[in-house]
Order: sequence, then structure tokens, then C-alpha cells
Amino acid sequence: MIPFLSLKEQTAALREDVLAELGRVIDTQGFANGPAVAQFERELADYLGCREVIAVNSGTSSLHAALIAAGVGAGDEVVTVSHTWISTAWAISYAGARPVFVDVDRATCGMDPSKLAAAIGPKTKAILPVHLYGLPADLDPILAIARERGIPVIEDCAQSIGATYKGRQTGTFGLVNATSFYPGKNLGAFGEGGAVMTDDAAIAGRVRSLRDHAQQGRHNHVELGFNWRMDGFQGAVLSVKLRHLDAWNARRRAIAARYVEGLKRAEGLSLVPGNDWSEPIWHIFPVFHAQRDEFRTRLEALGVQSGVHYPRPVHLQPAYSFLGYKPGDFPIAEELAATEISLPMFPELSDADVDQVIDAVVEVSTKLSTGTT
Ligand SMILES: *Cc1c(COP(=O)(O)O)cnc(C)c1O
Repeated sequence: MIPFLSLKEQTAALREDVLAELGRVIDTQGFANGPAVAQFERELADYLGCREVIAVNSGTSSLHAALIAAGVGAGDEVVTVSHTWISTAWAISYAGARPVFVDVDRATCGMDPSKLAAAIGPKTKAILPVHLYGLPADLDPILAIARERGIPVIEDCAQSIGATYKGRQTGTFGLVNATSFYPGKNLGAFGEGGAVMTDDAAIAGRVRSLRDHAQQGRHNHVELGFNWRMDGFQGAVLSVKLRHLDAWNARRRAIAARYVEGLKRAEGLSLVPGNDWSEPIWHIFPVFHAQRDEFRTRLEALGVQSGVHYPRPVHLQPAYSFLGYKPGDFPIAEELAATEISLPMFPELSDADVDQVIDAVVEVSTKLSTGTT
């Protein structure tokens, strides 16, 4: 069986390097927010080319922190996409605001800039595009609309660390941006983690304060604070892993290129078209087929595991029924949710594994399009 994702080989290869760094954390007792976390923050800031990185305890917390730091609060609206992991919307709700969705674009699977202006109203306090699957959203038109109206942009980079938009790293375009180090992400901790990225010193200071109970000086709490501190162990693991990120992402691009070439033979299957302005990191390799569930069952029978990201858009989740959206409101998001199949994607897949996936996908596509079993 070819798994959709396996961390086994990568984790085993890093074992000795990681254990040495974990030993240093134990020796210095920097268990919460200690020196290993501070070192990782500097390394990630250098890698991305931004001034400040503030590590936190999850991607969800990083979005929550970014929203508060951008000035979003009770009664405000934040414009985002419905085709995303639910945390993007949770964070808006945690900040006391209301998520307002815009549809996505098939070409990027991200926010459709041509539909953005219509979603902006007097209460809009931020625009939150998501670089889903590691494919950069089309930022320039989004930033232009935001700038015209004086509304900050916050990037959700949970799936895109290392991806570039017009030669520049995602996570460096918005006023303040957020990412996740959930173990399955391209840069994953050995546990939970996230980070906020910004060039703005005041915002960075506010996030640093918020994550540690909003203390300014010991026992002086200046606003409602949180415990968003990152574990020292996670900082140590992430420093080790960051050194490999470019090589891993390059391998993912090579796998994606092999899929694109091999899957030209697959009937009835669509892929995201490439473009010449972004370099994706393929956190997920999505393909789309009208008979998604049957397709996945048949793939599994041929020894290929797959995933779905995500089967139900946020605007149709029970938790968000109070927003009043209904099926048909965001046709592209709904179409992607109904047809997406995530093929196996992780750097340790061999070319032979990828070819086996391609052969299975082509076989299933052919049989479904000719109606054979
Ligand atoms: C993973 C993810 C998050 C949340 O990150 P956690 O670390 O799991 O809290 C937010 N947004 C997107 C798009 C994600 O993929």
C-alpha cells in the first residue's frame, strides 16, 4: 500500500540530530519559550526574509494572534475563503469577528480576487487569503484591493512555508501572517506548533506579549492574554528540520512534475494548471474527478491511499450554520470539495512509488470513463 502520507522515513533519518538538540533543551531547562525557540525564530525569519517571527503553540493560535494584532475584534468582519481547513474561520470567530467568505479560483484553489471587492463592507477589518495545498494565492490583485481600502491582509501560510509568489516567500506580503507546524505540514514539529510573521515591530511586540499572558514586566498583565508559548522541544526539532526544508520541497516539486506528466493519460481527471508566477510547495497534490468517492475506493483496491482536503466547505459546516449561508453560495468551493482527491505526497516517495500511483490513477480513470469494472 502506498500511503497518502508517511513521516516514518524522515523521522528516522533525523533521529540522531534531533536527540542531540533535545538533550540541549533538557540540559538548559528551556522547556517553554526558551533559547531553542528563540533560535528557531531567528532562523525562520532569516529563511523567509522577514523581520520578526514569533513562535506559538499551534497554527490556529498563530491566526488568532495575527487577527488580534491586526486590530480585529468584536463586531468586525474578516473576508476569507470557505475552501480551507476550519481553523482559518475558527480564528476569526475567536477574535470576536464574523467570517465573510468569497469563492475560490480553480486555477489557484485560493481566493478569487475578482470576487473580493463585493465581499468587503464597512465592517471589514482584515482580508485573510489561504495558500491552500502550498499553492500561492494570487496576491497582487488582493493586495491592491486591500491597499485601496486601507484594510490589512493576513496570509494563512499553514500549507505554504517555502512557497514563493513572484520570487518572494509567502508569509512576507501581509501586515502580519500565520503558519502551522502541525506534524503533517511540510515543516512539521514533533508535536504542535505555529508562528506569526511580520515586519512590524509593534505588532511583533504585541504578539510576544499576548502569547505569554500579556505580561509587560512580571505580574503586570496589560490586556487579556493567552498561553500560546511554544515548547522548547518543538523549537529544537524545527531548527533541525528547517535546514532540510528546501530539499524536501524541491523533491515534492519533482514528484508533482512526474505526476503532471504521467497523468496526461488520465481521462476525466483535472489537475491545477501551473503558472509562471508562483513556485508551489505541494503540501497536497490535488486532482479532481466527478466520481470522487468511487475513484478513491478503486484506488485503494489497487494499493494507493488518498485523502480529501476538504470534503465540506466551511460555509456549510454545522458550527457555522448561524452565518446563514446555503449550498450554491460558493459554487467553485463546493465543486472542489465534492471532487478533490489528494494523491500520496511526501518527499520520501520514490520515483517507482510515484509511477505506481500514476498507473493506478490512469487505470481507474480509464475504467470509470468507459464504465468498466
Ligand atoms: C493546519 C492548518 C491550520 C491550523 O494549524 P494547526 O497547527 O493545526 O492549529 C490553519 N490553516 C490551514 C490552511 C491549515 O492547513
